[in-house]
Amino acid sequence: VERHLSLRVTMIGEREGVSITVRDTTREKRTEEMHSDFVANVSHELRSPLSALVGFIETLQGPANDDPEARERFLGIMIQEANRMARLIDDLLSLSRVQIQEHVAPEEPVNMTTVLKNVVDILSLKAENRQMELILNCEASDCIISGDQDQMTQVFQNLIDNAIKYSKVGTSVEINCRYIEQLPHKSAPGVQVAVCDHGDGIDEEHLPRLTERFYRIDKARSRTMGGTGLGLAIVKHIIMRHRGRIQIESKAGEGSCFTVLLPLKA
Ligand code: ADP
Repeated sequence: VERHLSLRVTMIGEREGVSITVRDTTREKRTEEMHSDFVANVSHELRSPLSALVGFIETLQGPANDDPEARERFLGIMIQEANRMARLIDDLLSLSRVQIQEHVAPEEPVNMTTVLKNVVDILSLKAENRQMELILNCEASDCIISGDQDQMTQVFQNLIDNAIKYSKVGTSVEINCRYIEQLPHKSAPGVQVAVCDHGDGIDEEHLPRLTERFYRIDKARSRTMGGTGLGLAIVKHIIMRHRGRIQIESKAGEGSCFTVLLPLKA
């Protein structure tokens, strides 16, 4: 591993000698690099829809001006690009908000069954459009956690939305919620929610990086499906704020299971 060290030499006095401080700055350096990569990614992600918009505006001012059919088509694409920018800005704001709040555990009592039912309702039309079925099984009707209801809704909206996006038409997504006596990461009872699809699946090499900001297996596919590449990063940070864990299991060609483990309200 390449290490970064900073060396400081201070004269203490003519007779006393010098003091030498060596500091390992590898972590700071890595954080700085990650920050500048993130800024570069955000700029690139915002610039590409913006360039497309400028290109279409110029075409509409020039050659397409007298062609109503082309004008209609270009305006449709421009709306899509503008919506893409809006989604990206919304996701960036969500991510930044949850990162700021990370050290303050949320206290509201949140009924997980209610959250999951709401999310299934919100996404049922999207699933129907792909002839998919969302199957919700909740073993207990009162799994209450200490949390933030809107953020929990966002977690399962992102996970179930991905399950719909990255699955074949006509398949189903199962959401299983159950009470567990002891969480694997802390000695406390909890709730386990698994979102499983029968979609494309994910190769093992990608699994450790999946929750990184802007990490996408197939950038073009994610873009066509309306993705921003920030969904799973938001999920990870919200779960961390709730003192939970996320586990991802997948087999290419067979499907994926995203399992969220959360401590129950004391
Ligand atoms: P995106 O906006 O691109 O969907 P996410 O952060 O939600 O971004 O997901 C990151 C990437 O993980 C996706 O681009 C996709 O390649 C992969 N992915 C996420 N969920 C699934 C899933 N259920 N099945 C297959 N691949 C998935």
